[in-house]
Amino acid sequence: KEELNIIQGALELRSKTVEDVLTPLNDCFMLASDAILDFYTMSDVMQSGYTRIPVFENERSNIVDILFVKDLAFVDPDDSTPLKTITQFYKHPLHCVFTDTKLDAMLEQFKKGKSHLAIVQRVNNEGEGDPFYEVMGIVTLEDVIEEIIKSEIVDE
Ligand code: ADP
Repeated sequence: KEELNIIQGALELRSKTVEDVLTPLNDCFMLASDAILDFYTMSDVMQSGYTRIPVFENERSNIVDILFVKDLAFVDPDDSTPLKTITQFYKHPLHCVFTDTKLDAMLEQFKKGKSHLAIVQRVNNEGEGDPFYEVMGIVTLEDVIEEIIKSEIVDE
């Protein structure tokens, strides 16, 4: 029974897209690029429980960096280090994909390494103005795997 479920989940990777599994931007835990890594901010990050934290400039839809919690290992909250100092030091590459990316293709990209989190965007050509890229949310390897095994992975 469970095997059948997994096979079905695997087959559906070809038809489903990242849009079906993404975590919407509004639900993302993020930091503003001008944040200061004081005790307050660092406890927020720890309490969020996430390993990767998108960093935005001015508005949440403008993701400019990604902070890994492990980047904070040598940061002393008493130093009130600007977040920018850390992100500019590590410069983790941003990995962007479009909403219509199929999950099998997404899995291949994640398997190739680099990053296990991607920023999902779409081309917004509604309205009067020029079309623009609109960030819809984030997707991680775990979101794809959950689709295969068809059940929630409870986080540690
Ligand atoms: P983590 O290692 O941080 O637990 P996972 O890659 O295991 O992250 O993903 C677990 C779930 O949390 C996924 O649904 C993913 O989309 C979501 N997620 C990952 N990072 C964040 C974040 N910064 N804010 C909100 N949701 C996130």
